[in-house]
Amino acid sequence: MDTVDAVVIGAGVVGLAVARALALAGQEVMVLEAENAIGTGTSSRNSEVIHAGIYYPAGSLKAQMCVQGKALLYAYCAERGLGHQRCGKLIVATSTEQVAQLSQIQAKARANGVDDLVLLSQAQAQAMEPALQCEAALHSPSTGIVDSHALMLSYLGDMENAGGLLALNAYVYAVLQRQGTAKHPHVLVMQDGTELACRTLVNSAGLSAPNLTQRMDGLAPQHLYSAYYAKGNYFTLAGRSPFSRLIYPVPEAAGLGVHLTLDLGGQAKFGPDVQWVDSPHDLQVDPARGDAFYAEVRKYWPQLPDGALQAGYAGIRPKINAPHEAAADFVIQAPAQHGVVGLVNLLGIESPGLTSSLAIAERVCAELMDSTAPA
Ligand SMILES: Cc1cc2nc3c(=O)[nH]c(=O)nc-3n(C[C@H](O)[C@H](O)[C@H](O)COP(=O)(O)OP(=O)(O)OC[C@H]3O[C@@H](n4cnc5c(N)ncnc54)[C@H](O)[C@@H]3O)c2cc1C
Repeated sequence: MDTVDAVVIGAGVVGLAVARALALAGQEVMVLEAENAIGTGTSSRNSEVIHAGIYYPAGSLKAQMCVQGKALLYAYCAERGLGHQRCGKLIVATSTEQVAQLSQIQAKARANGVDDLVLLSQAQAQAMEPALQCEAALHSPSTGIVDSHALMLSYLGDMENAGGLLALNAYVYAVLQRQGTAKHPHVLVMQDGTELACRTLVNSAGLSAPNLTQRMDGLAPQHLYSAYYAKGNYFTLAGRSPFSRLIYPVPEAAGLGVHLTLDLGGQAKFGPDVQWVDSPHDLQVDPARGDAFYAEVRKYWPQLPDGALQAGYAGIRPKINAPHEAAADFVIQAPAQHGVVGLVNLLGIESPGLTSSLAIAERVCAELMDSTAPA
């Protein structure tokens, strides 16, 4: 049977960041990707926003990884000349009741170490964005956007330069454990029946990662996860954007509200909304869902013309909580939790996973080095 030091399952932005970090740390790495190209999953179906780290519960992994990851990502993009823009974002209160919520959001951000939010009056916000209607706003100067495809190619290039390999059309079906003292205890069973053994293994299979835990030997029942899928639909704006910053309403219970994001070409899109679905392949956007967008967007941009929104694309959030359950944090399930030496499962890596990719990679490397270090 062929062997390799480390395998990463999944060539999305997080899997590639992890593989890069392991390769730079001197490991012989192989990334196994089911599709025929990198980054065809959630990593190419998101908002491409570099999040500041504002909304996540204090002390959560999402908060920690986002704040650390944001700093690492800006530095990495600058060093490599990757497309990105620190365009900033406005969180807008469109009613007097919402104005008080802005201070609460600012306090929450501070608890996460994000202390650069500035409270703006209506006049100050409208001076920045003349098309905006609001009572007041919060300005987040460290929010930005990034070219996620260039980022993934750069991670891949770094990994390959450090000797790592990418295998496409390589679907991992199951993981067996070899008993005893095998140097490469994790045996990956591929869909075509071939096997590959490795010393360390990272499950970064995105939407499939939770269900893959159920096909892994050695995990106790409390460490097995199930996948849930929350689709986010986007509608693109025909014509030029009147805004040069990202515009977010005050968040609602179900999500961040229908917000406006920009790509590096200045094209504006609205979304994503929240639609729980049964299949990770349910990626069609129903144009009828756009009707609900008009009223939401007009709360902060009353001049949105009729017919200006066009069905765009959808991405699916890799949820590990059912719709009726509280939103889950990222799970970096390491040997310290499940007891299987050399194995890390990355579960529920939804937003802000893109922003957090380099920080997650550092954390995974540290967990694996700890777990495989000689006693
Ligand atoms: C609508 C939406 C908007 C978002 N917006 C943002 C944002 O603005 N900013 C931000 O920071 N984050 C955002 N995110 C989150 C971000 O996109 C994800 O956290 C990130 O892309 C996850 O990357 P990944 O590598 O974990 O997963 P994926 O990109 O899903 O990659 C997993 C890979 O594993 C492969 N795979 C699956 N099963 C197997 C198998 N058995 N064998 C081999 N390969 C397998 C898949 O083919 C896939 O390529 C958003 C997410 C969504 C859904």
